[in-house]
Amino acid sequence: MNIIEIATEEAYKANTAKFSRIILDIGSLSGVELDALEFAMESAKKATVLDGADVQINYIQARARCRQCGHEFGVDSVFNVCEKCQNYDLEIIQGKEMKIKSLILE
Ligand SMILES: [Zn+2]
Repeated sequence: MNIIEIATEEAYKANTAKFSRIILDIGSLSGVELDALEFAMESAKKATVLDGADVQINYIQARARCRQCGHEFGVDSVFNVCEKCQNYDLEIIQGKEMKIKSLILE
């Protein structure tokens, strides 16, 4: 799993063998199922720098900005239209994240 590889590299840079906590940013449009991710992390982290670490997930609700009128609003899919002008040309400004926000040493 990519997350484990990144954490391993970071541990090497920080000169530590272990992290006590990992915080992940997961957007509502990232395609990641939180339950599945938590489950996968539990087994993937064994015998790695994340062994025994708390996994904290920041769930980020997707938001879009209309390229026509500039309105910003929450969306539940990439196929939403602008609430104000019904334009389809939206820029997703958050909600596609799937990344490590921080790794914490204690
Ligand atoms: Zn609009």
